[in-house]
Amino acid sequence: MKNRQPFFFMLTILILLLPATAYAQESQPDLNLYLIRNFGYGGLGEIQGNFTLKIRDPLAELDKVEFYLDDELIATILQEPYEYKFHTSSFPDGEHVFSAVGSLIDETLVESNQIKKTLLSSGQAWSETQGLIVPVFLFIAGLTILGLGIPVLLSRKKDFVLGKYGPAGGAVCTRCDLPFSRFFLSPNLLTGKLVRCPHCGKISVRARASQNQIQEAETKYKNKDTSRVKTLDDQEYQKLLDESRFED
Ligand SMILES: [Zn+2]
Repeated sequence: MKNRQPFFFMLTILILLLPATAYAQESQPDLNLYLIRNFGYGGLGEIQGNFTLKIRDPLAELDKVEFYLDDELIATILQEPYEYKFHTSSFPDGEHVFSAVGSLIDETLVESNQIKKTLLSSGQAWSETQGLIVPVFLFIAGLTILGLGIPVLLSRKKDFVLGKYGPAGGAVCTRCDLPFSRFFLSPNLLTGKLVRCPHCGKISVRARASQNQIQEAETKYKNKDTSRVKTLDDQEYQKLLDESRFED
């Protein structure tokens, strides 16, 4: 245990030093330039639309600010607020560096930090936006399908009724060999529907069972548990006939 103490001591020192080092590297410029998006697209280092270059917390002695795109002067502002509104379409597409130079009352020059951005045309920005929206849309669609499918599979409310198999027909469980109805809203997979056995809970992909298979399974069900057998009343049977019109 004693050997660990120097290690933890060193770790503490390192943790204390890390933010300090990061802060030291990011030396505060005399002129604090930042970019505000008024309207438009702002992705990772890419912008398109209406923006404002602004000097944050200007020095009291500041007399004039010149805004630059690369090395080209784009605006001279003589009073607060030291800001410059622009639309990205005013400048050529591609990577650019925004910066500012300020003059103090005593004519000392102060430089700002640099902001590097890639200006996109509106077409590029739209395709970038689609690139973000489409995966999000697919994700939501996937969640919706899961949200519909899972309750169908997990629902224990649909009691098995002997002889009632619905428009999608019946299936026989591979685990308990009992018959059950294939819920017609269950998702269709290649070899059958994704269904859940109401007797034992096994989830499987089952094709529609033949009449013989169903009868065999029904016999087994009757022998196993006669108390749960229900019979169809006329109304239910009529409803079943109506639903079966929509069979595939
Ligand atoms: Zn089963």
